Amino acid sequence: MVKKHRKFPIAILMLEALLRRLHPQHPSRAKIKFDLRVRRSGYYGETQLDYHMAHLPRKNHYIFHDLRLPLTNKDFFQIDSLLLSSSYFMIYEAKNHAGTLTFEEQQMLQTYEGYTESYPNPIVQAENQQYHMEKFIGKHFGFTLPGTSFVVVTNPSSIIKFATHYEQIASRKVIRPLAIRQKSEGFWDHHPIPLLSHANLQKLCRLLLKLHTPLNTNIFKTFDVKKSDILPGVFCSNCQSLSMARVFGTWKCRRCRYLDKHAHIPALADYYLLNGDTITNRQLRQFLQLDSVTVATNLLGALRLPFDGTFKDRKYYLSLERLRN
Ligand SMILES: [Zn+2]
Repeated sequence: MVKKHRKFPIAILMLEALLRRLHPQHPSRAKIKFDLRVRRSGYYGETQLDYHMAHLPRKNHYIFHDLRLPLTNKDFFQIDSLLLSSSYFMIYEAKNHAGTLTFEEQQMLQTYEGYTESYPNPIVQAENQQYHMEKFIGKHFGFTLPGTSFVVVTNPSSIIKFATHYEQIASRKVIRPLAIRQKSEGFWDHHPIPLLSHANLQKLCRLLLKLHTPLNTNIFKTFDVKKSDILPGVFCSNCQSLSMARVFGTWKCRRCRYLDKHAHIPALADYYLLNGDTITNRQLRQFLQLDSVTVATNLLGALRLPFDGTFKDRKYYLSLERLRN
């Protein structure tokens, strides 16, 4: 049973919004594009993991995708997927890198399109997560469960290699998605005895969900972008230019004359992703490049957003679910 599903990463949506609204010549664009590519690839790999874990034989298992748990009050550890039972736990770390991946003790080398890049050894990463998970359970229950961890290479076209002296260890830890079932069942068979009572297992599940802390990245700081670098305005969905103007109750493209009554909705989604979940009448006018307070009030009213404050300093609460449907 899946206790925690993986959500589409908001960071990807934030970076897409940032790229849309950054000047074509902005010096940070290349770095943002690269980061976006890595994140999209990583997320795709994780969904492959989810797919194969969803097809594991049904037992009394609880599955948590994308968990970020506290180590101390400021440090965290992150797990791609956790499988938990009353007898054991298993950690799966997805890697979706392309090219040839060589696992060495100290690093993983990716050779792709003629370049070689070094990454931390994912086997050790997954073993560290396992170690932290053991400690986490130990801290709350006074004893721990046996655990194991696997690195799942999800990119079907990548080639897996092992350094000679490391092959014996690494080849047992690095698997393809198709081997998830076989490897998992092998571990289950070795640990048949329940160690946690049903009540304590439920307690552990609740604790994991309660302590999960999503990562909030400040994309402006990370990519050295100023708020003033963000281009305001409303995009035309026909010619993709930032040239919609408000005319007679609709939006009209100054470039291709396309009409779209709802063109401000994706603009407000961008506002949400880049500025946060509250907006005032003045902020909306600035972002949508509107002059009229009344038009802004009407647009906000039509969205039926919850709000705080009196009319003059009213703060409206945006939600992505509402703006993206
Ligand atoms: Zn247009």
